[in-house]
Amino acid sequence: MSDNKYSFLRRKLLASMLIVPAIPFLIVIIIGYYYYTGSLESEFISKIDRMVDDHGNLIESFIKERKSDLVMISELYSYDDIIAKGKIDFIFDSLIEKSDAFTDIGVFNEAGVHVAYHGPYELVGKKYNEAAWFKSVMEKGFYISDVFLGYREIPHLVVAVLKREPHKNWVIRATIDSSVFSRVVEQIQFGKTGEAYILNREGLFQTQRRSGGGLMEPDPDFETAPAVHEGVRVFVSEALDGTEYFYATSWLENNQWMLVARQEKAEAYRDLQRVVYLVLLIALLGGGLITGMAFYVTHMIVGRLDLLDSEKSELGQQLVRAGRLAEIGEMSSGFAHEINNPLQIIRAEQTLVEAILGDLRESGQLKESEDTRQIQDSLDQIKIQIARCAEITQGILKFARKKEVSETAEVDLPSFLPELIGLVKRKANVEGITIEQQIPKDLPHLKADPAQLQQVIVNLLNNAIDAIVEKHGARGGNINIEVGREDGSICIEVRDDGPGIRKENLEKIFTPFFTTKPVGKGTGLGLSICYGIITKMDGNMEVFSEEGQGTRFRIHLPVA
Ligand code: ADP
Repeated sequence: MSDNKYSFLRRKLLASMLIVPAIPFLIVIIIGYYYYTGSLESEFISKIDRMVDDHGNLIESFIKERKSDLVMISELYSYDDIIAKGKIDFIFDSLIEKSDAFTDIGVFNEAGVHVAYHGPYELVGKKYNEAAWFKSVMEKGFYISDVFLGYREIPHLVVAVLKREPHKNWVIRATIDSSVFSRVVEQIQFGKTGEAYILNREGLFQTQRRSGGGLMEPDPDFETAPAVHEGVRVFVSEALDGTEYFYATSWLENNQWMLVARQEKAEAYRDLQRVVYLVLLIALLGGGLITGMAFYVTHMIVGRLDLLDSEKSELGQQLVRAGRLAEIGEMSSGFAHEINNPLQIIRAEQTLVEAILGDLRESGQLKESEDTRQIQDSLDQIKIQIARCAEITQGILKFARKKEVSETAEVDLPSFLPELIGLVKRKANVEGITIEQQIPKDLPHLKADPAQLQQVIVNLLNNAIDAIVEKHGARGGNINIEVGREDGSICIEVRDDGPGIRKENLEKIFTPFFTTKPVGKGTGLGLSICYGIITKMDGNMEVFSEEGQGTRFRIHLPVA
């Protein structure tokens, strides 16, 4: 019932409890994720950018220095000076003192003939006027070759400078050991897959690449390399083998070479991956927590509403019952009054008949015989039945609270109750029933009519004894009286392990004349009178019972 009644509320509560915290939670996570990944990415980009820039500058300044060495020589010497015997050896020696990068040096006249040379080969007299490098230096004034290995298996390159003299232009050319900078580039390693290398404009390796690529071999991925550009460019590109790389490139030496640094994207993004896992974990835990809390709180609220509902309906039932009892009380007290009057007349008539009979016996007019004895028996029976009727009407009047004004006094339960229990204990013992009591000593006093309270407790105990005897016979049973405090009132509970009360009877037991006892044994007035007494004392009385399990009567009375 409550499931249907509150299912809409439950859904609404659940939805709002999930959505309200989930929105800021997700926003925080998303912002945090983008902020963090963004900063990690820009940190990586600036790192690789700086690396390429620094190494590019290193290489360029190396080449620039070597070039200015040659320019300086060409400025210092005239053609005639430099081809003088032994001069070129002297120049080489002084160059070597400054930098050991030079491996040979030579001078060429305008016709491309090698006129002076210092180095490991015999080159004087050889003619180079058709060589591409010679044509280039004659045209542009400066030439730098790509890197090659040479006979000594050391990376080299050739630098040539044109010296213009009137009618006598000449060229000075030197071979430079490029391993000085290529080693620096080749040794660059960041992470597991990070590496750097140099390519020429045709995409041939000018330095070796660690992951594969020998000197002057073509780079298979060069096609995707960016065209000549200014500064450093960072981008992601897929290599031929399908691996994605983060690239940083920079063009050097008048765009003759391209310095490349690269790292596998998966590795570069590994930190990011960790962030993703962390965010997922946080989202999972946080989400789980929010969901759990939402379910828990919703369950609590709906459960509380259910409880309030059942308390409300219980209260409603109690009100109806109390109203019905009050009505019955009104009716039955009128009825009792009506019965009482004829009963008094019958009693008066019976007394009169007895008096007349007595007189007749005394005067001897009435002889004792079987008939007179029968008349006397009838009269006695009438007397007994009148007394019984009177008892019932008294009971009805008590229930209806019309009779006797009660006298309230302060009752001290810890001494009052054991006395009472003592009264019924003997009867209980005969039936093999034990009465246990749990009565704290420090209870506050009650404001009640002690006689009426006694009537209530004795009634409950007697009912419990009757019930136990009905169930267990001579085997006996247990009665328990427990007293405790509850929110400014005192609670007295009488429990028994008798047969319990059927569900359909539970509603009726406070109703006058309701009894399950045989005719002549019960009047069905006991509990209704108890109920009347307790409500008059501003208390309340409840019953809890399950068939076969026993019964529990609970009375709440206000503290004095
Ligand atoms: P009576 O005792 O005269 O029957 P009551 O008003 O005292 O009248 O009790 C009404 C009915 O309530 C009893 O007949 C019995 O069926 C039931 N009852 C009362 N107390 C108990 C009890 N402790 N265990 C089982 N049934 C009980």
